[in-house]
Amino acid sequence: MGITGGIGSGKSTVAQIFSILGIPVYHADDRAKWLMTNDTGLKTKILEVFGEKSYSDKGELNRTFLASEVFGNIEKTQLINSLVHPVVKADFEAWALDQKSAYVLKEAALLFETGSAEELDFVITVSSPLRVRINRILLRDPHRNEEQINAIIDQQLPDEEKIKRSDFVVKNVDNKLLIPQVLGIHQKILATLKK
Ligand code: ATP
Repeated sequence: MGITGGIGSGKSTVAQIFSILGIPVYHADDRAKWLMTNDTGLKTKILEVFGEKSYSDKGELNRTFLASEVFGNIEKTQLINSLVHPVVKADFEAWALDQKSAYVLKEAALLFETGSAEELDFVITVSSPLRVRINRILLRDPHRNEEQINAIIDQQLPDEEKIKRSDFVVKNVDNKLLIPQVLGIHQKILATLKK
């Protein structure tokens, strides 16, 4: 299963609730960053395609450089995704095989954009109004300004599109409690798996 949502939608918060229910969560965005530094094959390809500036002298990923390379450039975004995605996919599948739970969750900001959603049985989208998301991120990440947050939002698939392509939606707005929504989805997934 997959869980996604735009920046500040609350997908990590919702994934944490699933985790409390005993569902292992694979944090694809964190894991991708780790693999980009530690998977030798992937690192070699990134160096070949994006050049020496992609890593520091110490071999650390130069995220600022890579972000500036791909930001707003669809071809380069697709190119980096085509390098990183297969490695993350294989890593996720190996990790999933090790889990003993009824199902597992892959959490990623760009589940649809990378084509990852098609490899999963169910997708959950966490949705929140844009204004709420921007305010949450301003509070959580004081180094970011509204313009930067809007630029990231513009790169992501709109909520309506994500919802259309999802099996379940969690509405993360003030008047809706998260835990009952997560419990409802968890029960439905378990019931489907029993069939
Ligand atoms: P990103 O894509 O940037 O990682 P995200 O979708 O994973 O974001 P979270 O990190 O879960 O979002 O939430 C963003 C911020 O909003 C966090 O600081 C989180 O604690 C807060 N937040 C999320 N949902 C709620 C809520 N229902 N009530 C209060 N705070 C919330």
